[in-house]
Amino acid sequence: MAQIYNFSAGPAVLPVSVVHQVQSELVSYKNSGMSIMEISHRSSLYTDMEAEAEENLRKLMRIPAEYDVLFLQGGGTLQFAMVPLNLAKGNNQVGYIDSGHWAQRAIEEAQLVPKIKTDVVASAASTNYTTLPEVPKLKKQYDYIHLTLNNTIEGTMYRKLPENLKHQLLVGDMSSNIMAQRYNVEDFGLIYAGAQKNIGPAGMTVVIVKHELLDDKLELPAMLSYVKQAAKHSALNTPPVFAIYVAGLVFKWLLEQGGVEEMQKRNEKKAELLYNYLDSSSLFNAPVTKDARSLTNIPFVTGNAELDQRFIADAQESGLVNLKGHRSVGGMRASLYNAFPFEGVQKLIEFMERFEQSVGG
Ligand code: PLP
Repeated sequence: MAQIYNFSAGPAVLPVSVVHQVQSELVSYKNSGMSIMEISHRSSLYTDMEAEAEENLRKLMRIPAEYDVLFLQGGGTLQFAMVPLNLAKGNNQVGYIDSGHWAQRAIEEAQLVPKIKTDVVASAASTNYTTLPEVPKLKKQYDYIHLTLNNTIEGTMYRKLPENLKHQLLVGDMSSNIMAQRYNVEDFGLIYAGAQKNIGPAGMTVVIVKHELLDDKLELPAMLSYVKQAAKHSALNTPPVFAIYVAGLVFKWLLEQGGVEEMQKRNEKKAELLYNYLDSSSLFNAPVTKDARSLTNIPFVTGNAELDQRFIADAQESGLVNLKGHRSVGGMRASLYNAFPFEGVQKLIEFMERFEQSVGG
């Protein structure tokens, strides 16, 4: 089969060696005679596998002991609701940074939770989300401030946390850049990430939460309660065994490759190559301002919707697949997650140069 480079924003490319290992273990996991999809979540085969996955994630992200690590279901979207349900207390005021589409989905869900006042404390609407919002000095202490670290659709990313959020309890959505660069877990009260971009298959969501934030007096249905999920080690009901297993293999792969620092180096190299080309091209243009550019999701346009469509179709034929931008913004988007190879970016640029010449750019 011809080489394919998958630029999808998610579900996204996995390390090739991990896919091969999954293939080899699919019929009999650890010589048990059972597929990984058949093993009981009450067996030591599962609990050992889950414990190892957690331990490796702790190493990779340097997660301190006072944080719980949960492997939940429901995607990033369920976290939009679980965060306010579990963490909004005290004065019942929560703050959100409106940095784009997914931040807005998080805000909408928080607004549906009764008895909570949701303030949008900063927004990048005025620049059409091509910048990160300016966060002003905040007058009060919020129960938490919600921040989307990487805006998957718009292609903006916080390389550093905003100064004015230093004394607030931060909740970070890292769905599309978890382990793409080093963040300090201790700067957050809670971090969440759907797996299907930088971790593994869809179906599992990582939640990292400071234990002291969990309130066992809070009356919530069990599946929506961090404290009840933590008490049962994420196996309150049947966990997504297969997704956790593949995530565990990806964590091992990440450690073997050199961990988050090595991923950050590779991601910076890949992104720099593409941004440099985009900035020098007379046909293609990257709309995001330089200081806000994402390492993992890089939108670009020609400025002509018909030409964009032709580019996407021609690229697809050349094995450069899933370059179509999100339907809400159009254009193109190259997602360069941890497992995406450097040579895929080189191939894309070679293709873009040929395309540019062919249309007389
Ligand atoms: N948050 C971010 C930053 C995302 O990119 C996405 C999906 O792309 C989500 C949340 C929603 O994730 P899920 O589909 O896992 O609910």
